[in-house]
Amino acid sequence: MIVILRADVRDEDVKEVVDSLTGAGYRGADISRGVEKTVVGAIGRPTKDKGLIAEQLKALPFVEDVVLISKPYKLVSREFHPERTVIKVGDVEIGGEQVVVMAGPCSVESRDQLLSAARVVKEAGAHILRGGAFKPSTSPYSFRGLGEEGLKILAEARNETGLPVITEVMDTRDVELVTRYADILQIGTRNMANFSLLQEVGHTEKPVMLKRGMSSTIEEWLQAAEYIADKGNFNIILCERGIRTFEPYTRNTFDVNAIPVVHQLSHLPVLGDPSHGTGRWRLVAPISKAAVAAGADGLLIEIHPNPAKALKDGAQSLTFSDFGRLMRELQPLVAAIGRRL
Ligand code: PEP
Ligand code: MN
Repeated sequence: MIVILRADVRDEDVKEVVDSLTGAGYRGADISRGVEKTVVGAIGRPTKDKGLIAEQLKALPFVEDVVLISKPYKLVSREFHPERTVIKVGDVEIGGEQVVVMAGPCSVESRDQLLSAARVVKEAGAHILRGGAFKPSTSPYSFRGLGEEGLKILAEARNETGLPVITEVMDTRDVELVTRYADILQIGTRNMANFSLLQEVGHTEKPVMLKRGMSSTIEEWLQAAEYIADKGNFNIILCERGIRTFEPYTRNTFDVNAIPVVHQLSHLPVLGDPSHGTGRWRLVAPISKAAVAAGADGLLIEIHPNPAKALKDGAQSLTFSDFGRLMRELQPLVAAIGRRL
């Protein structure tokens, strides 16, 4: 921690800062008096929360700023675990050499709809079946999902195809129920900062896919992952799904930067979701390729037997044949970067 003081600071003010630092458990402080500023660098480790110490120091009239040097997350950081984490879901490994494709409809609408999608996901060579049973919705009047009935249909599709399934859990009260059916628990963008929900899934042993909040920084996203890891569950897969920007042409702006940034900062695998990242089916294939080229460990893609009749997210859903084509087009790209599909 570095404390920046005003140039005209008095000796007793500097002493007050040093006393606060040692009182907070730091071993000592390094003082550097400059012409424009005086800088106090804390040495050692505090016994109190760094964020709180910084806030308290900032309240002093002669303190201009406090800069935290170490990151506000630890368990999910690359420093803590230099090797990349590989998460096993059945026979699928996420974060390894394989680029893992999760695909399926936005929402489970019916048995026929999901089973037909599941067969296509399997035939196209994708690895995990997606489908929402509990749907977050901006409008209270739009489709909110089939609930447990949807989970049962997902389980049936898993039995038939052997594909593991991923589905969203939105409420702490549903974690136990969804955990009984799902192979991966999805935390959606609107719940990235639902800290009770993060802690609740952190108490389970299920892999969790944590989507980036649509208005969240990468650091906030990693802190959300830290909430899950802090409760003992390190099986966390991050998913970049686009953020809100000033550009209205696309539903969100897919932040391709986030993929290599996450790999630099964290040991966790990261997927790209070009469906929500763009909101337009025509952009799903090019942005899928961009994500894979940037190092994404996998993709989350929405498909539908008849996108024009989808109850949710039809405009961003691929038809079965377009999905098959994308899977074939990904082959040479994946090979070129030394991975496999
Ligand atoms: C979804 O995957 O269908 C979904 C609702 O995603 P997000 O939370 O990213 O909007
Ligand atoms: Mn969707």
